[in-house]
Amino acid sequence: MRLSIELMGEDVSSARQRVLDWYDCNARVLPWREGPGAALKADPYRVWMSEVMLQQTTVPHATPYFEKFTTLWPSVSALAAAPDERVMAEWAGLGYYSRARNLLKCARAVVSEHGGVFPADEGALLKLPGFGPYTAAAVIAFAFGKAANVVDGNIERVMSRLYAVKTPVPQARPLLRELAARWVREDRARDWPQALMDLSASVCRPKSPSCLICPLREDCAAFAEGQPEAYPLKAAKAPKPVRHGVAFLIMSEDGFVVERRPDKGLLGGMLGLPHLEWRSEVWSEGEIVFPSVHHGNEAWENLGTYAHVFTHFALKQQVWRVVLSTKDMTAFLRQHNAYQGLSWGEAKSLPTAFAKALRPK
Ligand code: SF4
Repeated sequence: MRLSIELMGEDVSSARQRVLDWYDCNARVLPWREGPGAALKADPYRVWMSEVMLQQTTVPHATPYFEKFTTLWPSVSALAAAPDERVMAEWAGLGYYSRARNLLKCARAVVSEHGGVFPADEGALLKLPGFGPYTAAAVIAFAFGKAANVVDGNIERVMSRLYAVKTPVPQARPLLRELAARWVREDRARDWPQALMDLSASVCRPKSPSCLICPLREDCAAFAEGQPEAYPLKAAKAPKPVRHGVAFLIMSEDGFVVERRPDKGLLGGMLGLPHLEWRSEVWSEGEIVFPSVHHGNEAWENLGTYAHVFTHFALKQQVWRVVLSTKDMTAFLRQHNAYQGLSWGEAKSLPTAFAKALRPK
């Protein structure tokens, strides 16, 4: 049966069963989870801890931290009583330190508001510090074995392929959640998201999915199309706007002229070359008002244009150079208080956006 976005009531039971059968033989062994069909309830504390640690962190990196934390603090009450500095110190190296702060806040809230027992209710979990929809659904499914729509980036990828979703991410996220929800059942509620995650990790991989051994092959619309790795589609990034500038390299054999940029704004407080406004139109030579440096026969020379990409725009900047004698440079700087001289040896203190002007293409 080929899956379709349009058929809301489509029966996915047999495809779901095939994935669970595959999971029964291929489940990953992870220290925080129960294996396929586990009769025992997993410990919500361990499930929660693992989910917090796995945010933005790989399984191999998070595993030793998980083992250390659950040995040092085997229960949520033990963690809640731990000194902040100790927990932060043990977290060192795992990154994203706001997670550690929320971990402690949450442990203390579970103790003070829920008597040291995680509530088995998605709404109540969502009120705890650091809990978002994903973590709450994961604890409900993995720890309490109840049906919950657990959707992470990996499950999004599988759904986008199964249904060949043509809307790019991130806009497709609500649709992908909705598609994932069609597969959620009370039957093996804990195993289902784990099965899908394991499938996404070892078969439906981002770059080279192993479709030929996939239990969902005959259902998968992206496989039928022949290019499953193209999904999920990514929105094309809007090209950055281009601005054009003119920088002045006023130099002598000793160094060159710079100005201190205003504290506020782009490259605030840093040194830069004197330059004209960065605007959307290219500066024509006739428009350029050059700084008045002329004491003799010095001539401005166009060295070319270089490019630099800022976060919000791309800069194309012409570089015009004039070479002064040491004596004329001293006179120039005396007349222009806004400028200062920088020796060639100090050129590395320029931000890249201007350092490139010293070696224009
Ligand atoms: S058939 Fe290929 S693309 Fe489709 S779900 Fe399986 S591994 Fe992913």
